[in-house]
Amino acid sequence: MKTLTDFSFKGKRALIRVDFNVPFNANKEVTDATRMEAALPTVNYILENGGSVVLMSHLGRPSDGYEADFSLSHIVPKLSELLGREVEFAGDCIGDKAFSVTNRLSAGKIVLLENLRFYNEEKKGNSSFAEKLSGHGDIYVNDAFGTAHRAHASTSIIAGFFEGNSCFGKLMQSELDSIRRVMKNSAKPFTAIIGGAKVSSKISIIQNLMDKLDNLIIGGGMSYTFIKAMGGKVGNSLVEDDYLEEAKAILDVAEEKGVRILIPEDSMIADDFKNNAKRKIVDSSEIQEGWMGLDIGPKATEQYSKCIEESKTILWNGPMGVFEMDNFQSGTKKIAYSVVSATERGAYSLVGGGDSVAAINKYELKEHVSYVSTGGGALLELIEGKELPGVAAIENH
Ligand code: AMP
Repeated sequence: MKTLTDFSFKGKRALIRVDFNVPFNANKEVTDATRMEAALPTVNYILENGGSVVLMSHLGRPSDGYEADFSLSHIVPKLSELLGREVEFAGDCIGDKAFSVTNRLSAGKIVLLENLRFYNEEKKGNSSFAEKLSGHGDIYVNDAFGTAHRAHASTSIIAGFFEGNSCFGKLMQSELDSIRRVMKNSAKPFTAIIGGAKVSSKISIIQNLMDKLDNLIIGGGMSYTFIKAMGGKVGNSLVEDDYLEEAKAILDVAEEKGVRILIPEDSMIADDFKNNAKRKIVDSSEIQEGWMGLDIGPKATEQYSKCIEESKTILWNGPMGVFEMDNFQSGTKKIAYSVVSATERGAYSLVGGGDSVAAINKYELKEHVSYVSTGGGALLELIEGKELPGVAAIENH
């Protein structure tokens, strides 16, 4: 893996693809700077080693052409504050104005290019657009894990114009190290906790994990497709009838490969999809019409916690219930604390992909697990066993 330490940045301009697709309030102030903070170690390393930095990113989904709402100029104050240095805004990403700024960069300077998606060539992976962008730097650094699963001009095609001069940034490096540790070098027992709303969005992940796992813990809305597939009564719980056969096939494969599958024995059910709905705890395969499972029950929680706490490698994707509602968060919260306990006992824990990250943040446990991924789709594709265009591009050039 080619990383920052393979290059000397002294007197060089590093063109860094970052993921600064951040949320704003109505005054166009950044409301969550996590993605910007994640890129700081890479930027600071290059500056400390005598280089200058040209940053490029996308922001939101502009249609095609300039739209003030999606201008990256809005993030300049926050970025300067985080870096403790002035950041110059280039105003465009491929026009003469932008090149006039990046052509005269001296060591220690930072320039931010305008939103790449103001040119639809970016998403199309257009080669001449990528070539133009490449004129902004001497070394290409990809630190945008969140968009590494896209074959866009700035995330993948551009590496071809930096033959021998491209590498991963520190964020990319730690994301890739973390997922490889789980998928390729997992200490046993290896347990995956897969939850969330739907089986359909998790099926390829589960299939690819089957050869590696010791335990597969299923939670959240997707449990009820498995329970129905096994002949249980699930009432009005979320079920994907089109996936009953897939669910059965997973149960069969698990048996064949000796993977222990844990499906919630009991559930916290509700008579409405509301926090203040009537609630009760029942056997998960005995849910009456008019009721729906919105969280795992206490027996399932205890069984899951024990399994997690005995594990040496843990991958967690997806909540155990509708944790956004306080009355249905108990299972997810207890599972989060079990992942923390296992980590304290020496297990390696990776939490990633959308709502399990939201859950870990809700309980302020981010610092107590081994790694929290910044990538949603990119992480899920790696777990599915796919090669990411943004990763392949660096490895091939
Ligand atoms: P996903 O994006 O597929 O990981 O799903 C996350 C969403 O699943 C969260 O918004 C949860 O509220 C929701 N969810 C979890 N458990 C259930 C459930 N039992 N019934 C309906 N939705 C659920």
